[in-house]
Amino acid sequence: MKILEERILKDGQVLGKDVLKVDNFLNHQVDPMLMQQIGQEFHRLFKDQPITKVLTVESSGIAPAIFTGLAFNVPVIFARKHKSLTLKDELYTSTVYSYTKKVSNHISISKKFLKADDVCLVIDDFLANGQAVEGLMDIVGQAGAKLAGVGIVIEKTFQKGRHLMDEKGIRVESLARIKAFEDGKVIFLDDQEA
Ligand code: 5GP
Repeated sequence: MKILEERILKDGQVLGKDVLKVDNFLNHQVDPMLMQQIGQEFHRLFKDQPITKVLTVESSGIAPAIFTGLAFNVPVIFARKHKSLTLKDELYTSTVYSYTKKVSNHISISKKFLKADDVCLVIDDFLANGQAVEGLMDIVGQAGAKLAGVGIVIEKTFQKGRHLMDEKGIRVESLARIKAFEDGKVIFLDDQEA
């Protein structure tokens, strides 16, 4: 998605060897106009699927997920992160290791919001090692619901998340695909490589 790539080049900040900071438009300050275009793009890519729910994890996935839900006209559920869990019987839960924060979180979704007849589209801000998406896929499986695919705003192709999804035969659509950070610069995968 050209407009997203341009925004990453303009406002993204490379931290260390493998983290991109995008708090100017996605992770802290949010650009709703860009989020709306992102939601419309996920709709264009997945409109062949009978999506009934959009799923994400709090908090960074919420902005793109909301606009995707708006484009599909379906509810958006964000899994909540907890350190300890009470009322477990009413929740689907999974454990997710956070790559950027180096901690494990339980994520949970109330059983009342996810049913076996749901067709889910998982949305997240980043795909790195695939932990967050795997946690959501685990919850979709526990509910007996169907996973239609995964929509990612920014994928880092040099980390193992995409490979994990490909191995499981999961359809992943990423709007920007970064193949490397070189000297603090973002290098995108070009069309021939994709
Ligand atoms: P994964 O579970 O795929 O390893 O990582 C996905 C989660 O980690 C995302 O939901 C995102 O919040 C965070 N994350 C991973 N890589 C980056 C990054 O380069 N920049 C930022 N801002 N967050 C990241």
